[in-house]
Amino acid sequence: MKRQTPVDLPQGYIDFFIALENLQNEQQILLAKTNQFETFDIKKIITSGNRPLIKMQGITINEDDYKSALLSIIRFMKANRPDTTTGMEKLEQVLGDLDIKPVVSKLAALEIDDFFAKLAEQVDLTPELVVFVFDHALRPFLRIYAAPYQDELVKDDTPFWRFPNICPVCGSKSHFSRIRSADDRRFMFCDRCFSEWESPFLQCVHCGNDNPTSIKYLNVENDDAYQLYVCDKCLGYLKTYDERQKKQITDLFIANMETIYLDLLAKEKGYTNHDE
Ligand SMILES: [Zn+2]
Ligand SMILES: [Zn+2]
Repeated sequence: MKRQTPVDLPQGYIDFFIALENLQNEQQILLAKTNQFETFDIKKIITSGNRPLIKMQGITINEDDYKSALLSIIRFMKANRPDTTTGMEKLEQVLGDLDIKPVVSKLAALEIDDFFAKLAEQVDLTPELVVFVFDHALRPFLRIYAAPYQDELVKDDTPFWRFPNICPVCGSKSHFSRIRSADDRRFMFCDRCFSEWESPFLQCVHCGNDNPTSIKYLNVENDDAYQLYVCDKCLGYLKTYDERQKKQITDLFIANMETIYLDLLAKEKGYTNHDE
């Protein structure tokens, strides 16, 4: 379901991400039947190593299943981003010859080497687009991998993970959180593996500043549930969906995508998500 955003988004922008998420949800359900991963004591492992679980334990993905997921994303791109068709067809042609396994294990841990740049050159796509395709093909696997840890990560105890804006499971950087209406607690959201984990309500996720006078929130008029938390110490910002305003949960993946107007607002006001 699409909502009316306070700022008009480019034509088809949200439809693209809704369709992509639907495809990945379908894949995840199918893949979950045959792809199982070993489970670990996440709390113990990530607090002892201070690194995300995937970096500590690695992950092995079934190569054939991954290749068919990759083909689905390529087909999706051809249908939904026709301007990429030529490159996507070239990519499809070289897939059979690629040694996928080592690449995928590294990509899962967000180690992006020159494999992607070389491949991009070969198929006339940008390296960013090639990584986008490979990473989105991987996401249903990562979501299956991450699912067993979700209860533990949102448990009602002191947050045990030291890096609030880094996903404790897959290591991706998060730019989005929600405030749960039931108890006013803040949870960070990973749009890659769909994990959530707690971060203190009034603390900058970038620099740890918790002085209430230098943390404030901004939003666009009549759009109260979608907020920017900004820190005047490091000039960082975090986008947030405040469930208390609407008394309902929302699709956080889509909410993150459709609030690009908040990213623009933050940058206009001199704040950064510290990505650069
Ligand atoms: Zn993640
Ligand atoms: Zn800060």
